[in-house]
Amino acid sequence: MKTIGVLTSGGDSPGMNAAFRAVVRTAFTEGFEIVAFRHGFKGLIEGNFKKVGPTDVSNIIQRGGTILKSARCDEFRTEEGRAKAAEVLKDEGIENLIIIGGDGSFQGGTLLANEHDISVIGIPATIDNDLVGSDETIGYDTALNTAMDAIDKIRDTADAHDRLFLVEVMGRDAGFIALETGIAGGAELILLPESMTNIDEVRSSLNDVLKEQRRSSLVVVAEGDETGGALKLSEKLRDDFSKYEMRVCILGHVQRGGGPTARDRVLASRLGAAAVKAIKDGHSKVMVGIVNNRIKITPLKMTFGKRKDINFELLELSKTLR
Ligand code: ATP
Repeated sequence: MKTIGVLTSGGDSPGMNAAFRAVVRTAFTEGFEIVAFRHGFKGLIEGNFKKVGPTDVSNIIQRGGTILKSARCDEFRTEEGRAKAAEVLKDEGIENLIIIGGDGSFQGGTLLANEHDISVIGIPATIDNDLVGSDETIGYDTALNTAMDAIDKIRDTADAHDRLFLVEVMGRDAGFIALETGIAGGAELILLPESMTNIDEVRSSLNDVLKEQRRSSLVVVAEGDETGGALKLSEKLRDDFSKYEMRVCILGHVQRGGGPTARDRVLASRLGAAAVKAIKDGHSKVMVGIVNNRIKITPLKMTFGKRKDINFELLELSKTLR
């Protein structure tokens, strides 16, 4: 019986548990043994694992976070660290490793696969939605809804006091969350890492909006926007908008938490099953994704290091609708 190893790595995202569940149950049905590593690559290097079966993943589809735990692991960035990980896998007879994680995890996984001839399959799970090869990544939809919910609440209080709110959402290199929550939350302005932010244009757009006598205004800023995030932006705007009560709200880690949305649970279930199927079909060094509602297999090395296209039509739409 062939053995599959599985782990969650990097930033946690809602739906990782649903993906783990789908991997375990599909692997069981297909006749594989499954070994689960705790704490991502750290657990892999340390040999922190346990054999699991279908009942070990009962009652987790609805849970946020990852019951396998995740970790950042600097040792895995070194050749020696990856050699230790490969040894653990070989000692346990694990020929296939499924990594549920983001771009950093896939970079590490690619190196492990190349250096030690191990079959690695990636399942894209990150709230940032920044991996090429899947229209959406696991956790993105939940993070969007969490941020949108927070923005709705902020809008209520902003309105009550005629305030100008600068809301910072996650996204150091990618503005997917900012763009879609900005539209869904009716933001007056959306600032993204993918588009140049000219502070004079920000001032003039805000002036236009405020001149139209909107009582409150809301700007959604991705943390990686050129201005340096919402706090820095507020410093740059404070003098010009002193007659408005300006407030900054950084949503932070709340965006990572919470039970996954139905959409994320379905996505995670499909991708978990697809990863096992990919192993069965002999694939290696690939990521399973969904493009146009169909499973798509992409070479792992093509999924990171490039910027995934943002839909600039949506940015234009937000300007029309503000
Ligand atoms: P997210 O995008 O949600 O933060 P991620 O998978 O990108 O998730 P990272 O912290 O970037 O999260 O990476 C997770 C782990 O992958 C790192 O702690 C490290 O062990 C490994 N890793 C990242 N980049 C590399 C690399 N270039 N070489 C080897 N290993 C890497």
